[in-house]
Amino acid sequence: MAATLIDGKAFAAWVRADVAAHVARLREVHGLVPGLAVVLVGQDPASQVYVRNKGVQTTEAGMASFEHKLPVDTPEADLLALVARLNADPAVHGILVQLPLPKHIDTDLVINAIDPAKDVDGFHISNVGLLGTGQKAMVPCTPLGCLMMLRDHLGSLSGLNAVVVGRSNIVGKPMAQLLLGDSCTVTIAHSRTRDLAEVCARADILVAAVGRPEMITGDMVKPGATVIDVGINRIERDGRARLVGDVDFASAAAVAGAITPVPGGVGPMTIACLLANTLTACCRANGLPEPDGLTA
Ligand code: NDP
Repeated sequence: MAATLIDGKAFAAWVRADVAAHVARLREVHGLVPGLAVVLVGQDPASQVYVRNKGVQTTEAGMASFEHKLPVDTPEADLLALVARLNADPAVHGILVQLPLPKHIDTDLVINAIDPAKDVDGFHISNVGLLGTGQKAMVPCTPLGCLMMLRDHLGSLSGLNAVVVGRSNIVGKPMAQLLLGDSCTVTIAHSRTRDLAEVCARADILVAAVGRPEMITGDMVKPGATVIDVGINRIERDGRARLVGDVDFASAAAVAGAITPVPGGVGPMTIACLLANTLTACCRANGLPEPDGLTA
């Protein structure tokens, strides 16, 4: 392997410690405790694990954690009423509604009912617009984590060719906006892209957010490129369950300059950035300066 490993687990631990230090100061100097409310509707096993991890890490960072677990058949109106109560609660600075929601609930309606200032997932249409116009927004956690790792590894990103494979609203599009904000020349590839290999091979920064196991192979990577693998795919190999990314790690690592592994790359950064966003929301709500290095 020629590439440097970008250790997301270690970097996320550093981000969490930095957040915790800021939270301790907020409490000491201003008597403030940032609060994160997480709402889970139903009993999706993966969502339950995410919500539990979020709660544990929120508390470990010294923040207040509020969990709201609702039955799967909760009427949309009841969920909207809960969101309204959380919007009005001064102890809550961040609100996250765990997705996916059950089919009878209009996800866009619920997300857009969250106060944009408390929308720590960055999915509210106002935050999407603010990010798209280069204004101060709440930024989606996974792309924010990728940006932090890229800045940490490369310093300035200005002028670099960045290719983002995937155009979802939660990863691909905000990732592209953030890279544009850091003055990269950005290409977004998707399922209709012609000659994906040729497009990827131009990238100094290659971000894969596709959801297809190991589809980006070493021959698609520019020598020396920085490769960020957002994909989380559960596969079975040699009779064992495994977690792999969208990038074929072995062949890409032989060519790239640096690469994130799966697991232990982007994944741990997502919750760390959720904590960072909650801290940022608390600072903004109280007219205090935002913590350096934890926002876009
Ligand atoms: P989506 O399914 O919403 O989007 C996938 C994108 O990949 C689409 O834009 C699609 O194109 C594109 N795509 C699909 N097939 C191809 C192909 N053959 N060539 C090029 N592009 C293709 O996924 P998400 O963005 O939600 O997630 C992407 C991956 O990231 C998943 O593995 C997910 O599990 C992971 N993830 C990881 C997170 C983390 O914390 N690390 C957080 C969120 C997601 P089109 O639009 O044309 O259909």
